[in-house]
Amino acid sequence: MMETEALRAEIAELTSAVRAFLEWHAISGTTGLPPAEELKALHFETQELTQAAPPRQESAAIPEVAHPLSASPYEVEEPPQVAPPAVRLPPPAEVEPEARSSASPPSLHGVEPSGSGAATDDSLEGRHSRLVLVDQEVRGCQRCGLHAGRTHTVLHRGSPNAEIVFIGEGPGQEEDLSGEPFVGAAGQLLDKMIVAMGYGRDDVYICNIVKCRPPKNRKPEPQEMEACSPYLARQLDIVKPRVIVALGATAVQGLLGTAEGITRLRGTWKLYKGTIPLMPTFHPAYLLRQPSAKREVWSDLKGVLQFLGRAVPARS
Ligand code: SF4
Repeated sequence: MMETEALRAEIAELTSAVRAFLEWHAISGTTGLPPAEELKALHFETQELTQAAPPRQESAAIPEVAHPLSASPYEVEEPPQVAPPAVRLPPPAEVEPEARSSASPPSLHGVEPSGSGAATDDSLEGRHSRLVLVDQEVRGCQRCGLHAGRTHTVLHRGSPNAEIVFIGEGPGQEEDLSGEPFVGAAGQLLDKMIVAMGYGRDDVYICNIVKCRPPKNRKPEPQEMEACSPYLARQLDIVKPRVIVALGATAVQGLLGTAEGITRLRGTWKLYKGTIPLMPTFHPAYLLRQPSAKREVWSDLKGVLQFLGRAVPARS
């Protein structure tokens, strides 16, 4: 009896399950049951797949990796080259004479700096222009210690194509103040000597061994004369005189490099750098102190005129 009731309960349970199964298929549009063999095969495949499936794992966060194509090809191109800012160079007229001097030191051999368009121009204008360049360099020169005490540099006066160049020692006080050589009492006497030779004051060329005044009118030191010598060499290279008249012992020393006294040297022809005839004579300042020496100086100057083939004025 007990077994019969249990069997009925089990059948009722199965019937209820079949009913629910059929109702679900009816709702989802499925009609009928698959054949028994297909159900059986489907049952085993499902079991195999379920058993073979790996346990589910929580998905790890995927690190963000930039896709190689995510960047624009234009973004990896070389950045455009940026031109450097333009630097304005001042025109030559704005360059201070001192800057020009340091950029272009004087030649040590009397040759003018290359690049000067007037370097070979021996016309009067060309010589003048070349001397102006020398003057500009001298004005900024600090090649020796004499620059520290100067008021003005003193380069020259006279004609750029003179046949005679008179060369003295260096500027005195009046020359330092005026910027011109031989403007004091000694200069006035030199002018008289030049006129007595038959020249106008500005027909000749006049300059000094050093272009800056030595303190207390002392004699220039040998290193100061040496430092300044390139300027004098350039002056002589531009003017190209036929004769140099060296005024006093310091001028002779600076030009010839000799320590021999002027009393022994005066009146005897020498050669400057083996090319230009040079006549040593007394300095006009010495004649102011020793007027009797004017006779010797006039004798020396007559010798210069004779060398040049000029008429010698009658003078006692
Ligand atoms: S004396 Fe001559 S070398 Fe000396 S600072 Fe003057 S210009 Fe320059």
